[in-house]
Amino acid sequence: LPHHTAVVSHIALDIGGSLTKLVYFSREAYSKELGGRLNFLRFEADQIDQCFEFILELQKKQQALDGSKPGELCVMATGGGAYKYYDDMKKILGVEVLREDEMECLIIGLDFFITEIPREVFTHDEEDPMHFEEPRLDIYPYLLVNIGSGVSMVKVSGPRQYERIGGTSLGGGTLWGLLSLLTGARSFDDMLAMADRGDNTKVDMLVGDIYGTDYSKIGLKTTTIASSFGKVFKMKRQGESEAEDGSGLSNGDSRQADGASTSDRAFAPEDISRSLLYAVSNNIGQIAYLQCEKHKLEHIYFGGSFIRGHRQTMSTLAFAIKFWSNGNKKAHFLRHEGYLGSVGAFLKRQP
Ligand code: ADP
Repeated sequence: LPHHTAVVSHIALDIGGSLTKLVYFSREAYSKELGGRLNFLRFEADQIDQCFEFILELQKKQQALDGSKPGELCVMATGGGAYKYYDDMKKILGVEVLREDEMECLIIGLDFFITEIPREVFTHDEEDPMHFEEPRLDIYPYLLVNIGSGVSMVKVSGPRQYERIGGTSLGGGTLWGLLSLLTGARSFDDMLAMADRGDNTKVDMLVGDIYGTDYSKIGLKTTTIASSFGKVFKMKRQGESEAEDGSGLSNGDSRQADGASTSDRAFAPEDISRSLLYAVSNNIGQIAYLQCEKHKLEHIYFGGSFIRGHRQTMSTLAFAIKFWSNGNKKAHFLRHEGYLGSVGAFLKRQP
């Protein structure tokens, strides 16, 4: 919660399909210095009321502090929810809401992070999982791959010069949705924690499963995933026929006669989570690389809350870019990957 003497005059919201991202700037009320801090908060889509309550609280504190009137707070909003909740926001918060274009906010936020913020942009590999890059100015052209509920790929050729060149609907919402169906995980972080513990080779069909060896002639290792979830059908059928002829049953356990619980037993939620995380991340990594090639873009930045600073996700994306570019390109990540849009909206209306 904000410090009780903090001055808050601007709030920016990025209301997406899965999450609402909130950014506000605060500084000590009696400090003469210009410095302050940016604060970052996240609410799930169905907690939008909690987000509004949080802003009302901030407003109240502000009024108690400096006697400002209700309505003086400036709220910037971007993302689909800036339209969906526009009337609600104005009514509940009693303030003017300034709507901003989502793609523009994303790249304004990203430009700011790349050019001005030290220890924000980093590359990732096994030996050096967070290798920070110095802020730099010669950044164009670059590709932004924003992995939110869905995925947008945006070519940026100069300040506020951008074009959405592609995307895929297989994104963060897909992982979140499918894993809620397939595993007992309740939250996104549970899913990531499960993926950490999982072994995808129990679920995925590898080159080695098909060839018994590698297929080095065309550059495929034994361990390369040939088919995500490719082992499931075969194993499930085996499990079911064992259940039918009774050979797979231990005495007295009636639960096992039921097909569903047979498959529950065959596939651990951890293994399923890891396999799907790999499948979604690999797919995005490969499309990102192809877009880079097609549009002759030098640098790739990955943003969006899907990444969540998660090691496996970043390794998979980084590996995909390195592999497909024969080591010529590197994936760049950000510490505040989920807040590009809200930081961009915030910056657009800086007084
Ligand atoms: P959007 O703007 O579409 O909501 P985000 O960049 O906020 O997109 O990313 C949303 C995705 O981030 C989700 O689909 C999910 O994969 C992932 N995610 C990260 N943290 C959470 C969380 N706490 N709750 C739900 N999803 C999360």
